[in-house]
Amino acid sequence: MIINKFKNSLITLNLFLFLSLWIEKVYSMAIKERKGIKKTKNYSFIKEYDYEILIVLLIALGVFLLVEDLEIKHYMYLGLRWFLFSIGDIIKIIRDNVILLFQKEIFELSDLVGISLILLALHLAAKRWRDREIQRYPDIKECPDCGGKLQRIQRTPKQKIISFLYVAQLKNYTCKNCTFTGIKMLKKT
Ligand SMILES: [Zn+2]
Repeated sequence: MIINKFKNSLITLNLFLFLSLWIEKVYSMAIKERKGIKKTKNYSFIKEYDYEILIVLLIALGVFLLVEDLEIKHYMYLGLRWFLFSIGDIIKIIRDNVILLFQKEIFELSDLVGISLILLALHLAAKRWRDREIQRYPDIKECPDCGGKLQRIQRTPKQKIISFLYVAQLKNYTCKNCTFTGIKMLKKT
């Protein structure tokens, strides 16, 4: 009885989906035609027939579930169980290895703290260094030699590397009137 009810509701659901999808497609096609939107010729197969593919898949899934009934559920259960157990096993392996690493005292907690402190110090030093470099190249708006207008020019490879290393914006300028060239550094926002 329960299985029959399940079958019937599944068939109804499939029919409903089938109908609604077709109504939607016909409706959207009608709108496109009214608006005069022409279909482009090099449409991909999947894009062109996405509705049909979806419909076929739904029907296939519905039929498959009806025919296989209990057996499919058994296999789905087994598959799901296998999947969950595998994830559990992987987590266990990772956990055991991490614990082993600490037990063997390859990494002591003090080592980790030490490494972290050194990395933090290096990071702060790099930041300080960059800020100082940026200060060395203040925001220039006109040529300091003749007061002429500045024009941006392409950066040299060396300047590009510096920009990358400092994580800063670097702009190369030249004066329109004289031979002055200068760079401007900005923090990347
Ligand atoms: Zn100048």
